[in-house]
Amino acid sequence: MTTSFLTLESLSEKLDQLATFSAPGPGVTRLVYDEHWCAAHLWLQREARALGLAATCDAIGNLWLHDPALQPGARVIAVGSHLDSVTRGGRFDGAYGTIAALLLAAELRAQGAPVAAFVTCEEEGSRFPMALTGVRGLLGQLVPSECADKRDANGVRWADALQAAREKGCAAAAPPDGSPVPRVFTASRQLELHIEQGPVLESMGAKLGVVDTIAGYRRVRARLTGEARHAGTTPMDRRRDALAAAAEIVLATEALGIETGAPGVATAGGASAEPGLYNVVPGAAALLLEVRHTDAASLSRMEETLVERARAIASRRGVALELEVQAGEAATPLSAALADEAEAMAAGMAIPYRRMASGAGHDTMAFAQDGVPALMLFTPSRLGISHHPDELTKARDLWVAAAFARELLLAWAKSVA
Ligand SMILES: [Zn+2]
Repeated sequence: MTTSFLTLESLSEKLDQLATFSAPGPGVTRLVYDEHWCAAHLWLQREARALGLAATCDAIGNLWLHDPALQPGARVIAVGSHLDSVTRGGRFDGAYGTIAALLLAAELRAQGAPVAAFVTCEEEGSRFPMALTGVRGLLGQLVPSECADKRDANGVRWADALQAAREKGCAAAAPPDGSPVPRVFTASRQLELHIEQGPVLESMGAKLGVVDTIAGYRRVRARLTGEARHAGTTPMDRRRDALAAAAEIVLATEALGIETGAPGVATAGGASAEPGLYNVVPGAAALLLEVRHTDAASLSRMEETLVERARAIASRRGVALELEVQAGEAATPLSAALADEAEAMAAGMAIPYRRMASGAGHDTMAFAQDGVPALMLFTPSRLGISHHPDELTKARDLWVAAAFARELLLAWAKSVA
């Protein structure tokens, strides 16, 4: 019997429905454990049951949608993404991988493949000041007391927000104090479908990205201290202007990214100056600087160059510079063997594809770092727009990647059986 849980229409309809679970305002705002997130979570559970699947929550609200015959502890091929969004984000980030996984799990169950959909509760770090807590819980790496006292912008504690979601049926009972979140299933392999969130596929006319690496990043907070002086009476050659020095560092950062070239990027993402008045030469300034690259040595070189240039600019301008290197993330290689197999399959199916790196972090990083053979597939993003209400991937493109994933997962099911 042929089944048709996964169709272009079912994919589009369910994505439309999921997008309705959002706080009011432009785009989608669905923050972990908030009322819209809970409503979406309960809706997904109902949808899964209607497709013949069971829905099993873990203790922090990650969700598995799976063949009811699969018992907790089973080894499964895991396919999924995240349910939360950024504030005023788009309709596809996380949502696409979630809905595709739901339909793939239903479709492949009918074909006897041990594929289970996972939906992580949180990936974006958009409500509480920590990201990737969902997948860390899913992989048994998170002790809930680590996060319990983190607070959102309204002062709500993480533990209280989770408990309220739990009471609505969106999470299982808490583990004993000090214990990690128990795993529901163990992944033998893992796949995440996601929109690219960048312009590369669209500009090349490619329909599929086979992602073999996730870029690492380093972040540096710079504080510059000069001298606040009267802007009317201090001659130009007697100034130690912290903001002018910061501006030069911003441009040096941009130049570093341009010189390094893809997949390297460098960004000054934040700047502030004090006292911030018309008539005072700024005495202090602060910058948030970030570099990303898929190659560890190149990433280190970018960070060193950035630091050298910032120091040279500050010293030439007589401004004191303090650099605080923040915790970064190493580049994460995904499974080269799975990427090779996906490439060969895409070529065989005549799907225009590109093998590529992801500049953004994803749940898949945590699986790969845990030793699970992992892969991501990207769809083109219109104009590369993401984390914005205008985020768009054509229904046809969403379908091409999901149908490709179905074939890939079937092949995986044969080789891990
Ligand atoms: Zn995402």
